[in-house]
Amino acid sequence: MKIESVDFFYCSMPEVLDIGDGSQDALLVRIRAGGLEGWGECEASPLTSIASYVCPMSHSACKPLKYSLEGKSLNDVEDIYSISRDAQQNSFDLLQANHTLSGIDIALWDLLGKKLGEPVYRLLGYKKSYPKLPYASQLFGDTPEQTFAKALSARDSGFRAIKFGWGPFGKKDVITDAAHLEAARQGAGDDIFLMIDAGTVWNDNVEAAQQRLAALKKINAFWLEEPFTNLSAGAYHELSQSQPSIALAGGEGCNSFEQANLMLKYAGLTFIQIDAGRIGGITVAKNVADVAESQNISFVNHTFTSHLALSASLQPYAGIEKDNICEYPVELKPLARELTLTNILPDENGFILTPEKPGLGMEVNLAILKKYLQNVEIRVNGKEIYYTPSV
Ligand SMILES: [Mg+2]
Repeated sequence: MKIESVDFFYCSMPEVLDIGDGSQDALLVRIRAGGLEGWGECEASPLTSIASYVCPMSHSACKPLKYSLEGKSLNDVEDIYSISRDAQQNSFDLLQANHTLSGIDIALWDLLGKKLGEPVYRLLGYKKSYPKLPYASQLFGDTPEQTFAKALSARDSGFRAIKFGWGPFGKKDVITDAAHLEAARQGAGDDIFLMIDAGTVWNDNVEAAQQRLAALKKINAFWLEEPFTNLSAGAYHELSQSQPSIALAGGEGCNSFEQANLMLKYAGLTFIQIDAGRIGGITVAKNVADVAESQNISFVNHTFTSHLALSASLQPYAGIEKDNICEYPVELKPLARELTLTNILPDENGFILTPEKPGLGMEVNLAILKKYLQNVEIRVNGKEIYYTPSV
């Protein structure tokens, strides 16, 4: 079948707040071919991502992504790998390209899975998928009392793993941070895996992170995530050698295979966290999962948007039995929470399963998409080069 259309839908909550919550807007991609359609979601700034699909060519390494898609065939997995390679070549000087390619690549896998009647993970070469333990991923409360209440609530909801991140953590002093950490542990109880996400707050200041290690050790934190900005591999490595020791997690900001590879090689990570909606799609995320496995670094999905994106984020490591932890956002805005007709829910043992239906196994709720849709037009010299297509 030939790709007939690649359509983008920019959705947004009425108000977007300055908080570390990626579920406040969304860029959906719909690709049609052979009477079927596939859906993907970019974890990216929607407008700049649309622009990178339609912008005029600047030079031979700075072509819009449509150059690598229009008129292409989609019959087997090799076609997706070929499109991914073409896009990297044609658009490597267009910095937003991988963000946009991510949603496109995810939609292509969804579409091919529907055509071939297989879940995406099987097309990636896995024979079966293994259950993942979801951690309730949420922001720290504004006060330790709020953090305590959030931890208690996640525990009462049946989660066996909880992560707190961003919010006030790391922004004041060590004593305030320690109070949040202790509140999180008290609310969660001793038998819960508790992860802490510093949200890049210390830039590359190793000493600031080291000052919190004793408090993290005291609450038996399962990992410390993103103490530093993406690619600060030297700072990560130094912290990984510090005492008391703590497992480091990072990599969600990587928007290319090469960036993830750098983090795998030099950052001293125990866990690499990859967002399929940012790194170039399921294709690139699977490549990272393969390399991570060969280096005995655990792959963990990163996702903080809809369950379409959650399904996409699970596929690259669905078949790796030992990598059995997954991010599971629990504070989604209504846009992201309602964007799919069904959601992926924990079973009675608290585990989630990668959908077994063809493709990503998720259906977009078109009424919700319309409800939050932002109409966009892009013109150059009065000529329209993009407008929001009809749903
Ligand atoms: Mg994070």
